Amino acid sequence: MPTKKIPELKNLTNEPKIAYFTMEIGLQEGIPTYSGGLGILAGDATKSAADLGIPFIAVTMLNRKGYFKQELTKTGRQIEHPVKWNPKKYLKPLPFTTEVHIHGRRVLVKPWLYTIQGAAGAKAHVLFLDTDLKENILKDRKISYFLYGGDSKYRLKQEIVLGVGGVRILKSLGVDVKKYHMNEGHAAFLTLELLRMNNFNLEKTRKACVFTTHTPVAAGHDQFDYELTEEQMEPLVAPVLLRKLCGKERLNMTKLAFSMSNYVNGVAKQHKQVSEKMFPGYEIHAITNGVHSYTWTHPAFRKIYDKYISGWANEPELFIRAPIIPNEEIWASRDKAKKDLLDYVNRLTGVGMKKDVLTIGFARRATAYKRHNFIFSDLPRLKEISKRYPLQIIFAGKAHPRDENGKKIIQEVFKNIQKLKRDIKIVYLPNYDIEMAKKLTSGCDVWLNNPERPMEASGTSGMKAAHNGVLNFSVLDGWWLEGFVEAVTGWSIGPGPDEKIKPAEAIKRELEDLYTKLEYTILPMYYERRDDWMEMMENSISKVAYYFNTHRMMRRYVLYAYL
Ligand SMILES: *Cc1c(COP(=O)(O)O)cnc(C)c1O
Repeated sequence: MPTKKIPELKNLTNEPKIAYFTMEIGLQEGIPTYSGGLGILAGDATKSAADLGIPFIAVTMLNRKGYFKQELTKTGRQIEHPVKWNPKKYLKPLPFTTEVHIHGRRVLVKPWLYTIQGAAGAKAHVLFLDTDLKENILKDRKISYFLYGGDSKYRLKQEIVLGVGGVRILKSLGVDVKKYHMNEGHAAFLTLELLRMNNFNLEKTRKACVFTTHTPVAAGHDQFDYELTEEQMEPLVAPVLLRKLCGKERLNMTKLAFSMSNYVNGVAKQHKQVSEKMFPGYEIHAITNGVHSYTWTHPAFRKIYDKYISGWANEPELFIRAPIIPNEEIWASRDKAKKDLLDYVNRLTGVGMKKDVLTIGFARRATAYKRHNFIFSDLPRLKEISKRYPLQIIFAGKAHPRDENGKKIIQEVFKNIQKLKRDIKIVYLPNYDIEMAKKLTSGCDVWLNNPERPMEASGTSGMKAAHNGVLNFSVLDGWWLEGFVEAVTGWSIGPGPDEKIKPAEAIKRELEDLYTKLEYTILPMYYERRDDWMEMMENSISKVAYYFNTHRMMRRYVLYAYL
């Protein structure tokens, strides 16, 4: 093997690794291999692993055509375009291949390597699996093209390449794996390949596997017909055992991951409870998500953090001393971040947003439960509020190509923008991605989050906002249940999870909070009590960013799941 000629390989094989399998990963601008929160989390986890010196290698798909580029017509209709990107610009092809079997054919899989140099000099790696090789027939070459593209057969093939191909490529590279961590159920086939390698020793295999579940609804879990899996997959384990591990009727990837993992966790404390109800009989832990502090902090804030709390990026606990930063300097950084955002918005849309106007941000996947149009529930009331205090709102978010309802939601926002155009400046920016997320989560004043409870497993964009002193205004769901102290770290919307009230009543309460707090608490404080506002910005940094970061998250994974 030509291993000596590739210096990176030494680093890959020098000590046992955590192998983190993920269908998507969001690392930086220019690498469009993610769709949203799940991928960004994977990228942030890998960056923190590098910073902390955790021996870590992520395994994902190359996704040559990305997720998709979103174009929005004048009426807000979403048009999807493939993304062109050049893997050679960011990744290094490795001269190794492995093979998997799909529909009786041998499919060759090749890895590309991405290396992250951490803050203290350690390295973490990402392997991107590629099937676009001349040895494969066209159908198989396309397996590594589109993230979440195609039908369930296409998805199944991708999951075979990720799970089975991933384990095999690690083996052929000589990577010694200490734990296999599945970021969501997509990668669960890795457990079948491991079982085979371990002579069907269930206990031994389980001890090597960790599973993080992300979805709080049963419909969100990948399932395949056994007819299809038996047609497409090589028989890694006997059919009887397969059904025992994955479910009687259909092959449920989440069930497989549960059956085969020694440690399973949800992504926030409440999500653990919701998951335990969905999967009775399994012990589920909670490790609340975070974000990579350095990545999501605007350069103007990095500068003042460097000056006053030096070392913060690799030790976010230092945020606890954020109150020593003089108010004027926090405000100046916030001015810079806000100017960057509004210049960008005005350049893109010509809408003419103003820096002295309170700016609300709302950016997330356009899908029903996120309720993009919630703030438009009572237009006369919103208009009334804006007459007393000016405000402007920035939206963004893609709908999944097959989520027709999600696409309608974007069109609905466009209609509401039209209805309010004389009163409030509102825009919907196309093609939400990492670059735009950085601008939005650092340049707004208030970050609005109003999902239907308890659908938000964790959510992370509000944590990004907190790193830049942007105040969260959110429904009591996901991570915010652990982060909110009313009128100290931000504001809550509606009832908490312990109040047993009917859904219709909950919505009423949520709307009441949304409008009333906006009109009587948030807007007056912003315009009339600057010092109080500044204090809350400081709290957002010293109490929210302090905790909700992937450095804290990864340390917990090491302690509870990896060791
Ligand atoms: C952070 C982020 C998300 C996830 O945001 P949520 O609040 O969890 O919905 C999605 N997309 C992009 C581009 C992001 O940066």
